[in-house]
Amino acid sequence: MLNEYAYCPRLFYLEWVQGEWRESRDTVEGRAKHRRVQKESGRVPGPDETRKDDSAIHARSILMSAGKIGLIAKIDLLEGEGNRLTPVDYKRGKRPDIPEGAYEPERVQVCAQGLILRENGYECSEGVIYYVESKERVAIPFTDELVKRTLTLLEYAKKFASLGTIPAPLQDSPKCPRCSLVGICLPDEVQRLSEDDDGELVDVRRLLPARDDALPLYVQEQGAVMSKRGDTIEIKRAGSPPVTGRFMEVSHISTWGNVTMTSQCMHELCDRGIPVCHFSYGNWFYGITHGMTHKNVELRIRQFRTAGDAGASVAIARRIVEGKIRNCRTLLRRNNPDVPEAALEELARLAKLASEATDAGALLGMEGAAANVYFSNFAGMLKASPGECAPAFDFQERNRRPPKDPVNALLSFLYAILAKDATVTLLSVGFDPYLGFHHRPKYGRPALALDLMEEFRPLVADSAVISLINNRETTPDDFIEKGIGVTLKPEGKKTVIEAYERRMDSLVTHPIFGYSISYRRVLEVQARILARHLAGEVPAYEPFCTR
Ligand code: SF4
Repeated sequence: MLNEYAYCPRLFYLEWVQGEWRESRDTVEGRAKHRRVQKESGRVPGPDETRKDDSAIHARSILMSAGKIGLIAKIDLLEGEGNRLTPVDYKRGKRPDIPEGAYEPERVQVCAQGLILRENGYECSEGVIYYVESKERVAIPFTDELVKRTLTLLEYAKKFASLGTIPAPLQDSPKCPRCSLVGICLPDEVQRLSEDDDGELVDVRRLLPARDDALPLYVQEQGAVMSKRGDTIEIKRAGSPPVTGRFMEVSHISTWGNVTMTSQCMHELCDRGIPVCHFSYGNWFYGITHGMTHKNVELRIRQFRTAGDAGASVAIARRIVEGKIRNCRTLLRRNNPDVPEAALEELARLAKLASEATDAGALLGMEGAAANVYFSNFAGMLKASPGECAPAFDFQERNRRPPKDPVNALLSFLYAILAKDATVTLLSVGFDPYLGFHHRPKYGRPALALDLMEEFRPLVADSAVISLINNRETTPDDFIEKGIGVTLKPEGKKTVIEAYERRMDSLVTHPIFGYSISYRRVLEVQARILARHLAGEVPAYEPFCTR
């Protein structure tokens, strides 16, 4: 905790007050290198015992606390003789080339361990930092200056933790590119969005990887059984060899119908924070299994407070609807060569009206009017081959529950997948996906997920439908009539999911931040910007709109 505070007070707040954590290759590698010292071994005799006995002490992974100064630590290694002990802290990398031999956060951390030992009655005048990669030990003397600095940082950390306000991001700091929570903190993005448009805008550095390391896993084969095998998930399917994937490369799992999971596999997924989304065979998104709820209670309190405030809710809702209408207009302009100018003008007018709306009912009316204009020009974006495909992909109007033609079946299926992705993203950020600002609460409806996905419906789902049909990836044979509706066959679903994932993985230039980023990552950035808005860090929710 002190290590993080010394590095950056905001990092401390994110990790220790809001419970943020991001697994990365660095953290996994760090854990692996720490594994040996994390195994508890050896014994540390009590101070009275050690005063009488001078034998050597060598104990690993020792938990100790000091009530007076209010610290608790797990010490990687304790070495010493008799009553004199030295804490040894293991670090993953190489010894830094600086006169002190270690950075301040690391020195403060080992000094805090020394203070705990002193309060417990041991003598402790220095600590050691061991750099695993360069195999070097660096002695850290506990000078008066270092002790004073450690106690000051401890006092500040406790004060900040109780304030309930996240410290502002560091400005243009070289620490940010190395920070494990940069993708959650969004230091430059928050600064840009909180700036006055009239002033000089800061450059937003590319600190986020353009794409995620982990990807969704879809399992729709009926009768499949998923189990844990070491660090991998194994999927057994009747009549086919098993397939495996590493847990750390999976962001979340979606299953359709009769798919079984062993309890060991489920425990591992919960432990790693990998949610499992359950769809019925008929594509109904009916549940999600995940580990403990995100620890960021502050965010949920703000979410509930804002949702109960009609003015604050509509201020967010109008930006969401504006963004959706603007993106629908862009999609039509790019893909329908015959779209009447009047339709584009009407969508521009409705987007502007929505951006100024102060009444939730009026906003719904504007959204409905825009949907009418959009879907009445939607067919012009589809270029089905003449002949047998053309009537199948003839689009007349948007219909659902159930969708009555293949185009509507594709739209409904992809909107359900997008709602699932928005739900998973919101949970990972710490929101309650069921309480929205535009969509009002309704039993079983992930209202906030529906809010978040609005901007992405045209950009991701509709765009994937257009490319599936125009590139002949999907054919009329991929659909089946069921009662009064039409649904996708399993093979058809596979093609559609692949097209959706390609779209989510494609890069787009961010209109405000200027860097290229995948749609999947934008979805997360938008959820985090919403969280920053609720925390009062950015004045308004900015929708993601392509040009
Ligand atoms: S990204 Fe920068 S400002 Fe944000 S927590 Fe990390 S070091 Fe602090």
